[in-house]
Amino acid sequence: MAKIELTRIPFIKNALKSRYPQLAVFIVMLIGYIFAILAGLIGTPVGSHNFSIVFVWIAWWAILILVAVPFFGRGWCAVCPIPLPGEWLQRGAVLSPPDKRPKWLNLRVPKMFRNIWLQNISFLLLALFSSVLLTTPNITGVVLATMLFAAIRLSTVFERRAFCRYLCPVGGFIGLYSQTAPIELRIKDKQVCVTCEGKPCYNGSQAGYGCPWDVFPGGLTKNTYCGLCMECIRTCPHDNIAVNLRPFSADLAKPSTRMDEAFKAFIMLGSAMIYAGILLGPWGILKDAAYNVGTDAWFTYVAAFLAIIFVALPGLFTVGILHTKNTLPLKQRFASLSTALIPLGLMFWVAFSLSFVLTNASYILTALSDPLGLGWNLFGTANATWQPMLTSMLAPAQTLALVGGLIWSARTAQKAAGEVKVSPIPVIVYCFIATCLMLWLLL
Ligand code: SF4
Ligand code: SF4
Ligand code: SF4
Repeated sequence: MAKIELTRIPFIKNALKSRYPQLAVFIVMLIGYIFAILAGLIGTPVGSHNFSIVFVWIAWWAILILVAVPFFGRGWCAVCPIPLPGEWLQRGAVLSPPDKRPKWLNLRVPKMFRNIWLQNISFLLLALFSSVLLTTPNITGVVLATMLFAAIRLSTVFERRAFCRYLCPVGGFIGLYSQTAPIELRIKDKQVCVTCEGKPCYNGSQAGYGCPWDVFPGGLTKNTYCGLCMECIRTCPHDNIAVNLRPFSADLAKPSTRMDEAFKAFIMLGSAMIYAGILLGPWGILKDAAYNVGTDAWFTYVAAFLAIIFVALPGLFTVGILHTKNTLPLKQRFASLSTALIPLGLMFWVAFSLSFVLTNASYILTALSDPLGLGWNLFGTANATWQPMLTSMLAPAQTLALVGGLIWSARTAQKAAGEVKVSPIPVIVYCFIATCLMLWLLL
């Protein structure tokens, strides 16, 4: 399938160039986000009746993992409210043209942090506390507020969106999986960029701000670090930026060689499997260990979680590819071949989330009418009874997602193995075993 340039359609182009439609969505999102913080802090402690738990961990999560990431990549980041207050403060403006004088420290993020290891750590921190986080409104409220304030603080110290680029626990996995999405922002003609004076897409101009994600749009080859903020569409004086529809997983044809990105793939794959076992499995002892933070059982759970993600999964993968000898160092083969885990991990999360979301979706109606659990009945649905949705379709849909993920990963493994000139068979076998395990955990 050839690429289709969506920005050729005048309506889409105008909507993306103008700041107002995006600002309108941002404001609605920011209000919703602040309300989620307040609901978490002052609403009912019963998670299933609190807006913060129900709308963040069920409604938002369902939209993010089942729709936004697979089909729009970093589409969520295009409307996410978290970086906004910090960005407005950093710029000293909401919509006005850029004033080049820095208002805050405006430091460059130190080189040692310019990778996604901090995002890997922040995601793992949330993952290790997830049983409590997903069920306790005031903890969700504190985490949401912490993210907002961390983004504000980093905006006053570092240039551009340092929080999004290097720390956000959500942004890390959205970036990883956005490579599979059938949408991209890219330049139209490389030659135009070569001769472009001042590179306003990166440095900013009177028309708009330099790339907030510290990316040079002229060099974009994958979606991972482009936050789809659309600023470069506004600043490029040569109309050289396009938003394209493209085949799924086009970015994966050129595998990454970075270890931080490779480990992100293992972290996400392993977390989906562990969550499936703990949140959906029949093992009460595991649930208790994950929930009782600070106890000996919880520390054992943490040790096991980290051992699975950093030792067992990458260790078995390494053993598998050890025999795929060629002149490339093992580290490079490891990083490149782990690209095959990206579609598999995404489909593991889709399959897991289907279960989690369909089981709990009916709480959305209750929380909509009574978001703080104070006895309101705004839309007459406060007393809707809980019942799992579409139960007969769940197992077939999950099987389809997992088998589809396996086929997708096998094809990606073939391409990645072709790039590093080794056999894809060990990676395909690894993906097959992981899929069987996930099927057993879910069904
Ligand atoms: S990286 Fe995180 S904070 Fe930044 S826009 Fe994306 S989800 Fe929001
Ligand atoms: S402003 Fe436009 S033409 Fe110039 S470097 Fe950026 S994308 Fe290329
Ligand atoms: S300015 Fe362009 S390249 Fe940079 S994040 Fe925004 S949309 Fe992506």
